Amino acid sequence: MTGRSASSDGAPAGSLDPTAPITELKGVGHARAARLKRMGLTTVQDLMMLQPTQLIVWPDKISIQAACRRKGERVTVEGRVRRSVLQRIGGKRSIVRATISDGSGEMDLVFFNQPWMKEQLASGTMVVAHGGVVEARGASIASPRLGTEASPLPEPGTLSPEYSGGDGVSSDALKGWIDEALERFGDGLAEHLPQEFLEHCDAPSLEVAAPMIHRPETVPDFEYARRRFALEPILSLQAAVFARRQGKGGRARKALVTAAQDKEIRGRYPFTLTDAQSRVIGEIRQDLGKTRPMRRLLQGDVGAGKTAVAAYAAMVVAECGGQVAMMAPTEVLASQHAYGLRDLLEGHGLRTALITGSLRTGERRDIVARLAAGEIDVVFGTHALFSADVKFKRLDLAVIDEQHRFGVSQRGSLAQKGSDVHVLLMTATPIPRTLALTVYGDLEVSVLDGAPPGRGEVTTRWARGDDRRRMPRFLAERLEAGEQIYWVVPRIGDAAESTATESSAAKPAGKNAGKGGAPAAPSSAASAESRYENLLGRTSFRQAGLELVHGRLPSVERNTRLDRFRRGDVGTIVATTVVEVGVDVPNATIMVIEDAHRLGLAQLHQLRGRIGRGKKDSYCFLLGDKKAEERFRLMEKSRDGFLLAEEDLRQRGMGDLLGLRQSGENQEGLVDPERDLDLLLASRDLFQRNPDLIRMYESSDLDG
Ligand code: ADP
Ligand code: MG
Repeated sequence: MTGRSASSDGAPAGSLDPTAPITELKGVGHARAARLKRMGLTTVQDLMMLQPTQLIVWPDKISIQAACRRKGERVTVEGRVRRSVLQRIGGKRSIVRATISDGSGEMDLVFFNQPWMKEQLASGTMVVAHGGVVEARGASIASPRLGTEASPLPEPGTLSPEYSGGDGVSSDALKGWIDEALERFGDGLAEHLPQEFLEHCDAPSLEVAAPMIHRPETVPDFEYARRRFALEPILSLQAAVFARRQGKGGRARKALVTAAQDKEIRGRYPFTLTDAQSRVIGEIRQDLGKTRPMRRLLQGDVGAGKTAVAAYAAMVVAECGGQVAMMAPTEVLASQHAYGLRDLLEGHGLRTALITGSLRTGERRDIVARLAAGEIDVVFGTHALFSADVKFKRLDLAVIDEQHRFGVSQRGSLAQKGSDVHVLLMTATPIPRTLALTVYGDLEVSVLDGAPPGRGEVTTRWARGDDRRRMPRFLAERLEAGEQIYWVVPRIGDAAESTATESSAAKPAGKNAGKGGAPAAPSSAASAESRYENLLGRTSFRQAGLELVHGRLPSVERNTRLDRFRRGDVGTIVATTVVEVGVDVPNATIMVIEDAHRLGLAQLHQLRGRIGRGKKDSYCFLLGDKKAEERFRLMEKSRDGFLLAEEDLRQRGMGDLLGLRQSGENQEGLVDPERDLDLLLASRDLFQRNPDLIRMYESSDLDG
């Protein structure tokens, strides 16, 4: 976590010490404390230092007629229920559609898999509802928040910071504890940064910033306070960079293999390594053979075959008696790694395991025990890998996939599990070298260019006019031929899909998207839900089977649904941008991206990387506004990720390219290098002038 102990001169006399354990708070018992600890929150101060993921500004009530015209916006409406209809879709799935009216017009409130809402919203009931307006058989609000007499919605104009909970801890619960923490311990917060530096950064001191960010009176206040909060992860990062420059990199265990062993390991793959893979593997072999810990960033376009490279590193280390942790940003990706590499690894006697948040307690306990005993060689997982209870006998290598999706401190905590481990970071997001140096320090960078052979063509079309009209027919034919479709519905408006219990892998859609201070708009989950419902009404899609995934689903459920798609049980998956990274289903040959104008080039390219993974030819259809024509034309012309990323940079600035912007649960490192570049540079200056301060932020040894 980004909070750290107050300086030793400590809290002002008479006030409570905020470094007290979190159990000091009412309502936080041992069970909850354990959960909070897994989120990196152990002291009262950690809680006060938790950065909100977004700010909701509650709107005034408006007439239903007006609301119907505000597609993509969050609205609050009040009306009387005219009728409510329950539709069962099979299994536990259902849709309740309650039509409400206020005299000015009608709109539907739509609830998924909550059949009891039909009774609750019986005809004649008055309701106040809040949510994003979507188009689904007329204007609707999908999954609205309802105000009742007993618990009304917040007053219009109320600012509500939202927090990223997860693991059974809701944003509201966090809010409550933070309030109590501020009430009782707020006076004890002590600033440890020089006043002059804060002034230079135009950031308030901690004791001002904490109440201001958690209980903001205005949006500008919130943004001002956020700057102070953003300094914490930035300073930690810079401290790690400095430490490494000063040669304090520590020592790792060598994993040295002979030429014969190297050859034997390379021969284990079921395919021939590409030249690029072979070259990078050579670089990694050298790194692993040294005591200076490897810090290598492997950049390779989607589908370039990074996982195979990581597997080599894992096999070398395991061969030399060390353990390997392979971390992915979502459970979907973690299990994909685990299943994808199991044959290769276990086929040669290595023992593997998968730890995710959805394991049963007993299973988890068993794996944790075997890890500690050294009975597992390679463990796969999400951030669940660095829960406090996970200990390794001898962790020698950490592989972090799609590294830019992890919080800075999370990457650090994994490395701390082994006193000094080799680290391999992998990303499909090309990062300009100069920027990488500023932000990541002196990482070695390997580039994996080209794709494995034997792949089908990928054709991209901006579909409109005749193309658009012909599309459904074409899709129906592909489905009939047994191929599969991703149907992507990105966010509407600017809000992050932040209610996710696991990283939604959703990235902001525009330059101003996802900024801490931006008022929230309807989530992409809502619009994906309405598309899902719409496709259910089409015979060819319904017959081939449909699934819906978005970041709001519990991760277990999301995995189950993705698994059904992966196994080919369903033909189409309607998804938000959760499918953006890493999902590997070679039989999926079609991708439809709706509202493609809301996405930048880099993200469109990432999404398109989900298809073209098999032998068959693939097709990507972009649906969207003419205003993005330039982007669409580029997508039609090029599949070169680096070229598209450069264009993206030119068009939108550098913010999206760098992984410091967080998504989903990993919000504590909420730093946006584009927006916060001044803070990044200022903090570098600060450490140059005050090397003493570095120590305070040197909590992690990992500069990755
Ligand atoms: P990414 O770089 O996007 O993580 P993956 O590692 O998921 O790519 O690889 C994409 C697919 O290509 C996987 O199905 C993998 O098995 C396959 N693959 C990787 N390397 C090769 C190769 N040298 N020859 C053939 N197929 C390969
Ligand atoms: Mg991958």
